[in-house]
Amino acid sequence: MIKAFCTVAAFVMFAHVPALAADAPSPEALRAWHKRELRVAGIMHKLRLANLASCPKQEMTYGLVVARLDDRSSPAVRTAQAQSLGLRDYPTALGVIPGSVADQSGLREGDWIEAVGGISWPLTDAGPDARKAFWDALYAGIQAPTMEIKAEHEGQTRDFHLTGKAGCTASLFMINRKTVDATTFGSRVQVNSGLEALLQDDAELAFVLAHELAHVILEHTGPGKEAHIKDRAARQRIEIEADSLAVLLMARAGFATTAAAASIPRLRKTNGPISRLLGIYGPYMSTDERVAFLTKRAEEVRTQLAAEAQGR
Ligand SMILES: [Zn+2]
Repeated sequence: MIKAFCTVAAFVMFAHVPALAADAPSPEALRAWHKRELRVAGIMHKLRLANLASCPKQEMTYGLVVARLDDRSSPAVRTAQAQSLGLRDYPTALGVIPGSVADQSGLREGDWIEAVGGISWPLTDAGPDARKAFWDALYAGIQAPTMEIKAEHEGQTRDFHLTGKAGCTASLFMINRKTVDATTFGSRVQVNSGLEALLQDDAELAFVLAHELAHVILEHTGPGKEAHIKDRAARQRIEIEADSLAVLLMARAGFATTAAAASIPRLRKTNGPISRLLGIYGPYMSTDERVAFLTKRAEEVRTQLAAEAQGR
């Protein structure tokens, strides 16, 4: 489940997407979308924290997404975003991932982020440089071991001292697309909303996200690797490697490994009728082979983790 894609964003773990059209989505639809984003982000957050020891690259995680109303959006969209997500013209905690550092600090969605690392959001029209200084401070803070935030919380300004937790380097985006697919390029994982909708069981979704995180950890994709991925034999090998590591990653994050095999027939059903008829599996094993492989792998991982637990 990889193709090729690009760009980075170290701290934005998800981005609220269905907001660019001029027609405003209903506040209910925006809230529902936001809930789905938090679900995906929460699962990835667990995977990144639990698998630190396996990751070649690490970064701080705070589980906080800050956003403000987009100046370029139509008035109708801005109103819908303000009503449904609590976004304002100044930086707001749009997402606080449950169980994250931000969550444990007491920050809540809708809190106004007044300052980061002593750099305040300019309330008067101080020009773009003053705003850039704030965002720079936020990016710097989110990569630092600790972060100082001043935020308006329940009507009162409070100081929040956050100590980040190291996690695997990976950014995650859910995009509004019905096809059941996920894509990884370098450390960026993109999940289509159709995939999230299909896999209602968190452990099954965790397997797919773990598979993508495995591509990140094993550095299968990224600049310069495009030709390699197009090679059929190489692609088949990396898909098996990703499946194999994914089962271990999900287990370490506390998800039931049996869900890996269980997700495959469900994913398979979404392939086009012609692919199904012709038995085309792309770079993956056939459904039966993949289920057998993942079932066996789940057993191996259970044995490995039990042995590790005994050794401690
Ligand atoms: Zn893959």
